[in-house]
Amino acid sequence: MIGLGRFGSHLAESLAALGREVLAIDRDAQQVQKWSSMIDQVTQADATDEEVLRQLGLSDVQRVVVAIGASVEASVLTVLALVELGIPQIWARATSGQHAKILSSVGAHRVLFPEAETGERLAHLIISRTLDFVEFDEAFAVARVRVPRSLAGRPTSEIQLLKRYGVRVVGIKRSGEQRYRYVSDEMQLADDTILIVEGTIEQIQRFATLS
Ligand code: ADP
Repeated sequence: MIGLGRFGSHLAESLAALGREVLAIDRDAQQVQKWSSMIDQVTQADATDEEVLRQLGLSDVQRVVVAIGASVEASVLTVLALVELGIPQIWARATSGQHAKILSSVGAHRVLFPEAETGERLAHLIISRTLDFVEFDEAFAVARVRVPRSLAGRPTSEIQLLKRYGVRVVGIKRSGEQRYRYVSDEMQLADDTILIVEGTIEQIQRFATLS
């Protein structure tokens, strides 16, 4: 983990909590001091210096996350140094669309844009009955959606969600039930039923904004 600002430190802590060995680098001595008791190995270094990274043993690391946000220059130079070292997986955080483009063009394998991703995600959750979703690509997403009121009281066979809205129901959980199960035609939907549906984001959104 390179950069222990708010984003990098949370990510490093979460990885450590999941039992992963984390090596963190930050050029700021105070940050290094602050995180040294929580993360396995924390080193003070300037990550834009390829030779320093080599000496720290980064050439053997499989995946590096560049979490530097505020300084685009430091973030880009760090990615370049990692490319030179031949790191197989370089994940880099962007703080703007332009920053994201630069990171991709200098060789980041994956660009993370947490502010934009969280904003987009929250917008979907705020405007609809969607409780949670995962978008795999533009044409495929899976979401957890509360049943629209207009569909309550009707059996799933009658509603024809696939034909009408393009979404396929893969799981259902009704009030009082602990687990999701596969849906069958005669199941009655209620106001508080939760469905797991698949479709495109637009199809799911259309379904989830029905009143
Ligand atoms: P956040 O928005 O997540 O708080 P910041 O961009 O403010 O992110 O913080 C990034 C962290 O990266 C800071 O702790 C900073 O000291 C560190 N950092 C910046 N440049 C370098 C560099 N060249 N080498 C190592 N760490 C750096």
